[in-house]
Amino acid sequence: MVTINDKVKCCGCSACANICHKNAIRMVQDAEGFMYPKADASLCNNCGLCEKVCPVTNKEAHKTQDLKKAYLIQHRKKDVLAESTSGGAFTAIAEYVISQGGVVFGAAFDSQFKVIHTSAHTSTELAKFRNSKYVQSDLGDTFCQVKSLLSKGTMVCYSGTPCQIQGLRKYLMKDYENLILVDVVCRAVPSPGVWEKYYQYENSKGHIKDIRFRDKKLGYQYSTMAIKTQNGKIRREGIESHPWLRMFFSGMIIRPSCSACRFRDPHRISDITIWDCFNVYQLDKRMNEQLGVTRALVHTEKGQDVLGKICDRIHVHEIAYEDAVKGVKEMRESPAMHPDRRKFFADLNTMTFDCLLQKYYPNTLKVRVKKTARLALNYLGLDVIVKHWLKKRK
Ligand SMILES: Cc1cc2nc3c(=O)[nH]c(=O)nc-3n(C[C@H](O)[C@H](O)[C@H](O)COP(=O)(O)OP(=O)(O)OC[C@H]3O[C@@H](n4cnc5c(N)ncnc54)[C@H](O)[C@@H]3O)c2cc1C
Repeated sequence: MVTINDKVKCCGCSACANICHKNAIRMVQDAEGFMYPKADASLCNNCGLCEKVCPVTNKEAHKTQDLKKAYLIQHRKKDVLAESTSGGAFTAIAEYVISQGGVVFGAAFDSQFKVIHTSAHTSTELAKFRNSKYVQSDLGDTFCQVKSLLSKGTMVCYSGTPCQIQGLRKYLMKDYENLILVDVVCRAVPSPGVWEKYYQYENSKGHIKDIRFRDKKLGYQYSTMAIKTQNGKIRREGIESHPWLRMFFSGMIIRPSCSACRFRDPHRISDITIWDCFNVYQLDKRMNEQLGVTRALVHTEKGQDVLGKICDRIHVHEIAYEDAVKGVKEMRESPAMHPDRRKFFADLNTMTFDCLLQKYYPNTLKVRVKKTARLALNYLGLDVIVKHWLKKRK
């Protein structure tokens, strides 16, 4: 029976809960707001399936025949590009699947801005998947839905973080010709419980209409988090000053398993891996870097076939595999958890969010100076030049 003694060893993929024929396992939020499996011993018949499908303890080996193909991708439609995190490669793949009568799964907001995995059956519905949501998504029973669709012969595309894709693959227990797996390169996932509290805090200041974790209004190189309220106001700030981005990127609210992620590897079990490309100027000068570009690795023949089918929807340039993965830290190193994490989570349950932010992420003079400097450089059109220069020096 599944028992979590060490939280670093559970990525919350829910494969165990989905596989249990006795419905003995539920995913339950812990005090830090992350989902973990909780088994009811009275319903368990000790079949051992839950342990067998765990991707952390039984990691699926990556494909031995990895094609090692790498591409830079940009969707041809400007509106798709504007809404996507990078180059909109995911939308192009998903549009192809829909055109084949298939079903696409990805992460979207529900009506309360909770991040959940859900399905799309039409191209219009795909908009909800665009843009990375920096919160761990609730997978619900999507693995069961996928299995049911696959066994009926429906084409399915499932996208998610590497641990979610591993979880699905373990749950399915075999390869399906009609399944396309797309994973993102993932730094870490923040707590859904903290997100709920943060959302309530922001919503109390002004009713929230829309949230973008990666807004491109100030350009791709200076992507900001944007929160739009019902009265039309938009709060748009970068990593140097936005409270959510500061909490995330400092390692304060990341899932413990992300700090020892077992799936940080350029070789994947997915068909296609997608991620950001901030150094497109070094890889291919033909692409407009301010609109955003997706870097993609194609691991399988199936992935290569899909890429061939979406060529009319995208601008695509092949690059050397070694260049694509060179220096990509998120593929190799796990971020550390913040040293004040314990204190932060203890305070989370006793303090108002406002006080919590003032204590751990105050809007100091240094923060305000950094923000003003970035905005000024962006306004003068110099931020990209400065970023390139800093990167070169590094
Ligand atoms: C939590 C997270 C962390 C990431 N960290 C990095 C990083 O450190 N470095 C890097 O280069 N890229 C990272 N990415 C990937 C990157 O942000 C883009 O997803 C990628 O560039 C593809 O962009 P796109 O324009 O092609 O797709 P988009 O149109 O942006 O599509 C987004 C895709 O991501 C999926 N997705 C969105 N939110 C979630 C979520 N919470 N959980 C699971 N799947 C989700 C959607 O279902 C969709 O498939 C991360 C993504 C996420 C979700």
